[in-house]
Amino acid sequence: MKRSRSCDVVVVGAGMAGLTAARELRRAGREVLVLEARDRVGGRTLSKTLDNGVVIDLGGQWVAPTQTRVMRLVDEFKVDIFKTYTAGDSMLLFEGEVIRRSGSFPFKDKESLDDIRQCMEKLEVLAASVPLDAPWTHPDAIRLDNITFAQWIEENTTTDFSRFFFNWYAPAVFSVNSSELSALHAAFYFGAAGGVALVTSTEGGGQDSRFHKGFQELSLRLAEELGDAICLSSPVSLIEQGESKAIVHTDHMTVEADRVVVAMPPTLSGRIRYNPPMPASRDALIQRMPMGTAIKTMIRYSSPFWRELGLSGMVISQADIPQLVFDNSPDDGSCGILLLFCEGGAARRWGACSSMEREAAMLEVLVKCFGEQARNYEEIIEKYWVEEEFSRGCYAGTMPPGVWTTLGESLRKPVGRIHWAGTETATSWNGYVEGAVQSGERVTQEVIDAQG
Ligand SMILES: Cc1cc2nc3c(=O)[nH]c(=O)nc-3n(C[C@H](O)[C@H](O)[C@H](O)COP(=O)(O)OP(=O)(O)OC[C@H]3O[C@@H](n4cnc5c(N)ncnc54)[C@H](O)[C@@H]3O)c2cc1C
Repeated sequence: MKRSRSCDVVVVGAGMAGLTAARELRRAGREVLVLEARDRVGGRTLSKTLDNGVVIDLGGQWVAPTQTRVMRLVDEFKVDIFKTYTAGDSMLLFEGEVIRRSGSFPFKDKESLDDIRQCMEKLEVLAASVPLDAPWTHPDAIRLDNITFAQWIEENTTTDFSRFFFNWYAPAVFSVNSSELSALHAAFYFGAAGGVALVTSTEGGGQDSRFHKGFQELSLRLAEELGDAICLSSPVSLIEQGESKAIVHTDHMTVEADRVVVAMPPTLSGRIRYNPPMPASRDALIQRMPMGTAIKTMIRYSSPFWRELGLSGMVISQADIPQLVFDNSPDDGSCGILLLFCEGGAARRWGACSSMEREAAMLEVLVKCFGEQARNYEEIIEKYWVEEEFSRGCYAGTMPPGVWTTLGESLRKPVGRIHWAGTETATSWNGYVEGAVQSGERVTQEVIDAQG
């Protein structure tokens, strides 16, 4: 026998979007129940304690000063954050050569640097021109949505290195290849974050600061407040809608409610059954917003030895794995941690290999950049997000060509009593935790308005 319950609003998914919605709806006087598939809250934020006691993030980890909603939670919960380490030179591994440059951007030569700058400026102007709540209304929407970001890069760069750079940059930002997303989506995404410079930068930008105890702490604190309104290990399999109520089904429970908030990536919302079925446009949309692919690896050393060599730890690499390296050591430098990313098509290829093969390839790159000492690590930990049943990839769902302009209107449009949240529905920092929080706030207002 299934247990039956009832409440005003069921929230499906206890990531930052669902938890924010649940909190805000409760504050607005609604009785809320949160149904979460996993045995934990936090979704794509997941913190882990290493063998030496240092906490790292296997999911989202950085926060920017302009991510005001997250920063408000940081203040409210008195959570400690610290600046990402940036001092020292950065490295470029290109055409088998290691190039060392001062500052955070290791470019090849002056000509390509100038070309990258002019292309960035064009992208900046384009991003600022996208109407964030309706990208399909951009005056050039059809053309931009019909081409891939790869085509846009080809049209707007002149040197081999700048082409390499932007095609490398796309998976670093979107975790899909530049050929897999529309130019309109790329422009929208940068626009939603306040510009390309903000997405790219460490200091003052998307990689500005990290959490001492991990980003998941915010979810845990929200969950603490919500208490037994959260049901873990409760994957929702079916949502039925009638004239006067909705019924949400898990294996062990049915919950009757006036409204349902589905707070997860659109493609995962397509794994739930609906009765009546979704309208054709919503169904088509959720078949067309794939998650990206990323493998996030952290390698711990007894000390951040690269700092003594005058290096920041930052590497831009033409090798498939890793493509990008950051210094991810704790604030006190009590040990050294290198963070290595493998994203997009390369992550799909390397995801099919064994972890030992991945490790060997990554160490080769680290040794080239930082010397033999890079082999002497104490701990290695990796996370391949595609393997997570209730994420199926990261960092977020992306729009391939043609989707924004044909189906974009269905992204947030409620279907009867069902409302949609999740970072993919955000107009501010879409794809980031900030976007998840914004979507939770937006959907709360939507539910309140719908209830009259
Ligand atoms: C490796 C990685 C690095 C990242 N780096 C950053 C970063 O540095 N900074 C940043 O701001 N963002 C980063 N992100 C992105 C950020 O983590 C996400 O944007 C954000 O956490 C999304 O929150 P959400 O609530 O929208 O979705 P999610 O966190 O995905 O939450 C959805 C929830 O729904 C649950 N669910 C799914 N299906 C069902 C079902 N059928 N029934 C019930 N529950 C279900 C899931 O288990 C999950 O808990 C990163 C993500 C990853 C994975």
